[in-house]
Amino acid sequence: MKQEYIFIGPPGSGKGTQTKMLSEEYNLPHIDTGSLLREAVASGSKEGKLADTYMSKGQLVPIQVVSEIIKNRLLKDDCQNGFILDGYPRSLEQAYALDDILKEVDKNTQTTPKVFYFQIEQDKLVERLVNRRSCAKCGSIYNLKTMNISDNTKCPKCGGDLIKRDDDTEEVAVKRFETYFRETAPLIDLYSKRNWLIKLDASLPIEKIYENLKGAVKEYVNS
Ligand code: AMP
Repeated sequence: MKQEYIFIGPPGSGKGTQTKMLSEEYNLPHIDTGSLLREAVASGSKEGKLADTYMSKGQLVPIQVVSEIIKNRLLKDDCQNGFILDGYPRSLEQAYALDDILKEVDKNTQTTPKVFYFQIEQDKLVERLVNRRSCAKCGSIYNLKTMNISDNTKCPKCGGDLIKRDDDTEEVAVKRFETYFRETAPLIDLYSKRNWLIKLDASLPIEKIYENLKGAVKEYVNS
């Protein structure tokens, strides 16, 4: 059975951490539009330069750029058994674009995606983002406040450098929340009406969220 998962939630709600864990355990590609766009920015390509002008302001990159990236990625061989989409779709327009992409990608299979919504109050999230660091090598995510690390620490998992994202500043984080509530939050209603939505309490400890996530995944796989 092809497993298609879509992760939705406000910035800093822990989607990336949980996707990484699920992706490693179930051997499903983790498709994270934010990282794909950051790679495009770092490459200095025309698309990357355009994306940067939006990302640095906490706004959504134009749909044509993002949907093209997603379509090309989902058509790759490693997505044949499924994938986890983290950060796409992020607007109703993108959700409808994804419907069309999935019609093409899944023309030989009958698959209904499951959408995991990371539900959490916003108040603690800006602080989480400002203190977030990630490993440049393996992508593991850490927090300066809640974990025993500092900016000089090397990644405890692989020894890579820990870096802070350019858009994890208070100013851009506030804009990203505005964008989330305006553009992305309506997806909750859309996917709930389709019966695709599963809510996860994202205020729980990481291991507990993962346990709940895995429980829902097992139920979906066995259904
Ligand atoms: P993230 O790493 O998911 O927090 O994304 C970082 C930034 O990349 C966002 O603030 C947007 O500017 C851009 N971005 C990521 N995913 C999308 C998307 N699906 N559509 C448009 N822009 C996106």
